Amino acid sequence: MKIDILTIFPDFFRGPLDYGIIRRAREAGLASIEVHDLRAFAHDRHRTVDDRPFGGGEGMVLKPEPIFECMEMLAIAPRAQRLGGSAKQSVVLLSAQGKRFEQGVAQELAALDRIVLICGRYEGVDERVSDFLADRELSIGDYVLSGGELGAAVIVDTVTRLLPGALGNEASSRQESFTAQAESPAGNGSGPSSTCASGGLLDYPHYTRPADFRGMGVPEVLVSGNHEDIRRWRRRTALEKTLRNRPDLLDRTTLSEEDQDLLAQITGPKHT
Ligand code: SAM
Repeated sequence: MKIDILTIFPDFFRGPLDYGIIRRAREAGLASIEVHDLRAFAHDRHRTVDDRPFGGGEGMVLKPEPIFECMEMLAIAPRAQRLGGSAKQSVVLLSAQGKRFEQGVAQELAALDRIVLICGRYEGVDERVSDFLADRELSIGDYVLSGGELGAAVIVDTVTRLLPGALGNEASSRQESFTAQAESPAGNGSGPSSTCASGGLLDYPHYTRPADFRGMGVPEVLVSGNHEDIRRWRRRTALEKTLRNRPDLLDRTTLSEEDQDLLAQITGPKHT
């Protein structure tokens, strides 16, 4: 996958792209990530990329010219000229006003060949970028950041780890929180029978050695060696945690009969 990031702070990405899974995915050639400095596309000697908003009001707005010119350099035409094309790509404008970036969107983006991430700053980006260039506006949450760079880093990280081969163990991305891909809680027969797909819930709790840390033990079942008991415990604790921290996810998830039984044990029969 090719990822282009348009920003006025290219150095911001020095850290986020240089560690762990993203670094390894880049080195393995799974992801090619380029960061483009929008100031390189400004024409005055101050390399101005912002201007006051028409109609008055607070703050400054990122000008359209540097963004359109950077896209031209990348050979990406305005949206209307791309519609109907066969390219598997998406131009994303980071925006607090965008649709919420969630795991399902990350999976959609990971299936593409190319994504372009445009980072806003100041009071935002001239709306013609959204109207004529971007395929979608994405928000990473209901809060206002100073710029789109953190959002772009979040998207790059989330998408990259979904690329085939990016994780050492492909099963781990299927088991993680929010992964809606329906899979039997009993597993699909290809992995250890004690692990279970999250099926849209939060992940189950994880423990590692030592089994006794300063008097804090690990749940007995996890050292029992009984894979079926472990699987049921993991599913139950995933349901408990989801109910406690993100009950909204339960409404969006199809619960198996076993899930409903486990939930009934947690909440009592009347709440199922
Ligand atoms: N005036 C805008 C508003 O109220 O919606 C906020 C602009 S914000 C200070 C500057 C830039 O940060 C935005 O153009 C966008 O690129 C980025 N940004 C802010 N919040 C974001 C969020 N929740 N998700 C993604 N990008 C965000």
